[in-house]
Amino acid sequence: MARRKYVVGNWKMNGLSDAVTEAQAIFAAADEHPAVDVAICPPFTLIGAMAAALPEAAIGGQDCHAAASGAYTGSVAAAMLVDAGATLVIVGHSERREGCGEGDAEVKAKAEAALAAGLNVILCVGEPRAVRESGGAIDYVLAQVRESLPVEFDPARLAIAYEPIWAIGTGLVPTVDDVAAMHGAIRAALAERIGAGAEVMRLLYGGSVNGENAAELLGAGDVDGALVGGASLTAAKFIPIVAAGAGL
Ligand code: PEP
Repeated sequence: MARRKYVVGNWKMNGLSDAVTEAQAIFAAADEHPAVDVAICPPFTLIGAMAAALPEAAIGGQDCHAAASGAYTGSVAAAMLVDAGATLVIVGHSERREGCGEGDAEVKAKAEAALAAGLNVILCVGEPRAVRESGGAIDYVLAQVRESLPVEFDPARLAIAYEPIWAIGTGLVPTVDDVAAMHGAIRAALAERIGAGAEVMRLLYGGSVNGENAAELLGAGDVDGALVGGASLTAAKFIPIVAAGAGL
């Protein structure tokens, strides 16, 4: 089935209030590629301003807490993201799995909370370098998918981002064959779990995507888009990736 391409920028901990202007430039240029769904996930502090400046744009959070409210200093609940104007959220990014010790059960709880609050979800999975080198990447990632997926979900509202940890921010990328093999394995595991809904789910690749490699990576089997870090911060770098998605 034809799935719309989805290109999402993860701004990580980058951007002050003047970055809203860059987001406006990104979405204005992305409008030239209506075949591609584009979203930006800025730091929490920019969501409100960005959503106000760009009411039609898909703006997301980079994380949310699984609880609705409470004594969780520094955390943000899914409903707070909605309140600020977000329509989606990333959960399970490797920088949180590794840096903040988040495991699959917590990622699953976050995804469930986000969906319940009305957010679409991008659920990240990916193997460390040693696992890739040992030949165990597919088993490792499929276990993450199995353990992190919500019990029930609308497949149109949840995308999976395969992001090999060793490819994030390093300039290293897996071969197109390895990306296609991983995405094919994820799709097959989803089909086993949810049946025909697996054909609706979008599977994004993430890890050092840029304007030069985007066409090849987004053209790989079962790749429906990209989650982009460093190259999403400016229109000059991000739009070529969107354009590559539109050309496929
Ligand atoms: C990411 O952080 O999700 C990511 C893919 O980063 P980069 O594109 O910089 O590798």
